[in-house]
Amino acid sequence: MSAFDFDLFVIGGGSGGVRAARMAAQRGLRVALAEVLGTDGLGGTCVNVGCIPKKLYSYAAHYSEAFEEARGFGWQVGETTFDWATLKANRAKEIARLNGVYANLLRGAGVTQLDGFARLVGDHEIELATLNADGSPGHRRFSAANILIATGGTPHVPHFSGREHVITSNEVFDLDPFPKRLLIVGGGYIACEFASIFNGLGANVTQLYRGEQVLRGFDDEIRHFAAAEMVKAGVDLRLNAGVVDIRKTGQGLRVECEDGNTVMADAVLYATGRVPNTRDLGLERVGVATGARGEVIVNAQYQTNVPHIRAVGDVTNRVQLTPVALGEAMVVVDALCGPAPGKAPRDMAYDFIPTAVFTHPSIGTVGLTEAQARERFGDVTVFRSEFKALKHTLSGRSERTLMKLVVDTKTDRVVGLHMVGAEAGEIVQGFAVALKAGATKAVFDNTIGIHPTAAEEFVTMREPVR
Ligand code: FAD
Ligand code: NDP
Repeated sequence: MSAFDFDLFVIGGGSGGVRAARMAAQRGLRVALAEVLGTDGLGGTCVNVGCIPKKLYSYAAHYSEAFEEARGFGWQVGETTFDWATLKANRAKEIARLNGVYANLLRGAGVTQLDGFARLVGDHEIELATLNADGSPGHRRFSAANILIATGGTPHVPHFSGREHVITSNEVFDLDPFPKRLLIVGGGYIACEFASIFNGLGANVTQLYRGEQVLRGFDDEIRHFAAAEMVKAGVDLRLNAGVVDIRKTGQGLRVECEDGNTVMADAVLYATGRVPNTRDLGLERVGVATGARGEVIVNAQYQTNVPHIRAVGDVTNRVQLTPVALGEAMVVVDALCGPAPGKAPRDMAYDFIPTAVFTHPSIGTVGLTEAQARERFGDVTVFRSEFKALKHTLSGRSERTLMKLVVDTKTDRVVGLHMVGAEAGEIVQGFAVALKAGATKAVFDNTIGIHPTAAEEFVTMREPVR
């Protein structure tokens, strides 16, 4: 028995922290997990104010399209109304259920759950700020052989005049009342997803992005196509645009833009990136190195420069996706406990991470953009298919789908696969396995399609466009 209270102390009960704590405890370590939101808030960003509530709201927003489309298929849909309060209440109920599921999983695995803000106070020592029995602030100290920092990130809002009037993705889910006029600043995942969601729910959405095109980092053709579809669906997207000042007036928030225009809004959502949660964590005190944005710097085993202190997930400010945090947590568990019986140690590779942006229509992508592939391989062959999905031949909607394959000409390997269209995430997940396995274009060509689907286009593109 070690002299420490725990073999592993996990700070943060989000995607990475819960996975690491649960799996390490199942493999026999004595594990504690501290979560500042308490047991009722387990699940972190993804469960409480991220992936899950966002996707539920995206489903809600799709109904407005479905009601319109139904007519072309012979349905007479009566007058429809949307009740924001019902959606919020049902979402809250489901999230509370998930919080409970996470708590049960940890309990079942034998993890000691601690409520409160944890900080490092010594090489192997953690202090937990908590409440005493009489409600007064207090703290407890614990020691641990290993410590895992999985504290995630927080929305970042730049400084400008009127900043106090804006909200972030943390507040958007519970806005009250429903924002009939919503201004969104940013051009990343969150800005684009919420532009589509609130547009679908019936708000007038204006989106301001500072650059030439939204979704920097995605394939250029995909960015332009997705943005055009969002605009077609009703989002007022303004490029090379920014906010100078926001003032509260009797008619709502008056947003003065850089081009001299003003926009009146009921709410202004800033989705301008996230910063790692490392403030007050005590990292300087124990000498854990951080980077320019406060992120914890780690090696391939997720060790900091203090080897028994590790970090995973958004707090490392690398790929901010839940499945990535989960994958990283599994590498840590294998490093601490050895690989699971009969299995090789988990390896976390950062190429071919599939991802989806739940805009309407959605984006799904895996591998390299065309530009990245050209830079890496020089000679690439591009296949592209753009079409109106079968459903929209009767739905009356003009939404179009784009699919694209990027192939390394020398090896014939498919190195990038991208799409904009319905259920892009569902479609691309399967193809990600093929790309990860090194599938060549010849393998795609030899694969039989499933007819009639949109996905079959990926195995029937024959003529390169470039
Ligand atoms: P988190 O899940 O953020 O967990 C960190 C936890 O640590 C939190 O619960 C926090 O309260 C706690 N904590 C912080 N400091 C302390 C402390 N000192 N002591 C105790 N507890 C502490 N990713 C996807 O893959 N798909 C999506 O569709 C998707 N949608 C998203 C939508 C939105 C609006 C946002 C904001 C994010 C979305 N993400 C999505 C990203 C995803 O949520 C994150 O990548 C993921 O949650 C990161 O997990 P994590 O464990 O690193 O941190
Ligand atoms: P992103 O980094 O994706 O986007 C931030 C956006 O804000 C960019 O368009 C950026 O512009 C812009 N921006 C940054 N600073 C400023 C500023 N000072 N003024 C104006 N604009 C600014 O961050 P998000 O907040 O959208 O999301 C955070 C992360 O969460 C994502 O990167 C993603 O990893 C994850 N996420 C994943 C989702 C999914 O999987 N579906 C959904 C939501 C979030 P520029 O590009 O010019 O720098």
